[in-house]
Amino acid sequence: MNRKERAALVHEGLRRVIEKRTTELDHGNPFELLVATLLSAQCTDERVNTVTPALFRAFPDAASMSKAEPEQIFPFIRSISYPNNKSKHLAKMARQVMENFDGRIPETVQKLETLAGVGHKTAQVVAGIAFGVPTLAVDTHIFRVAHRIGLVTDAPTPLHVERQLKRLLPVDDWGEMHHLLILHGRYHCTARSPLCETCPIQFACKWYSQLAKLPGPVIGLNQKLGRYYCATRKHYFAEPDHISDRAGLEQLSCPKCGSMNVFDTRTGKTSRRIKDYRI
Ligand code: SF4
Repeated sequence: MNRKERAALVHEGLRRVIEKRTTELDHGNPFELLVATLLSAQCTDERVNTVTPALFRAFPDAASMSKAEPEQIFPFIRSISYPNNKSKHLAKMARQVMENFDGRIPETVQKLETLAGVGHKTAQVVAGIAFGVPTLAVDTHIFRVAHRIGLVTDAPTPLHVERQLKRLLPVDDWGEMHHLLILHGRYHCTARSPLCETCPIQFACKWYSQLAKLPGPVIGLNQKLGRYYCATRKHYFAEPDHISDRAGLEQLSCPKCGSMNVFDTRTGKTSRRIKDYRI
């Protein structure tokens, strides 16, 4: 299957199981969404949602926040990450909204990016959700999931991932796919322990198909004869060699024949690894 077909299958598969396809940041208008998204950098949505009710009561709009000093904003957000920087950004951002945009949150990615503390990702999220602009912001979840599933290749930065994903999907699906991939990465395809066995898009996942091709465990190995077992030459050994496979990943290999068909005698499992993205 090519990447476009894979992307369509993933979109369809995730749509079937994820009903709420929007941000988990609580907000009631574009200003609140902008503030909450800015606060969510390097922080969980859950934690942001605990501080925003009081923050929005104190500063319900850009006009009220523009009159505040960072020190007045700080106490409301002290429990989230980088409260010092974020309170400075919020105060400055609100002033810029008042001075440059007549108190209205700008509707385009380019204009949003001119605001303090608003990067490409935040601008896309706000433009997409609040104003319906077709966007596909890439966060750590999307970065990881897109690589694992095999939707992108040679994409070292979020911007590379964004460009490749946009080429695979119809413009009308960008926004929805953004939410689907984030939610899938947050609750299912997690960094440390992806729940592959119950994954709704297992059939379309490249990583899973590579895992399935790995040899099963060898039963009955004798640990006393050596730490490793080469299934090609059928002998035990203590010290493996290391070689790079075609993906550039370091693998254990047999010191005699160089085979990567090596098993750990303690577990019986293959020592072969598959390139993963655990961020
Ligand atoms: S099969 Fe596993 S790695 Fe692939 S998308 Fe599902 S959870 Fe993630």
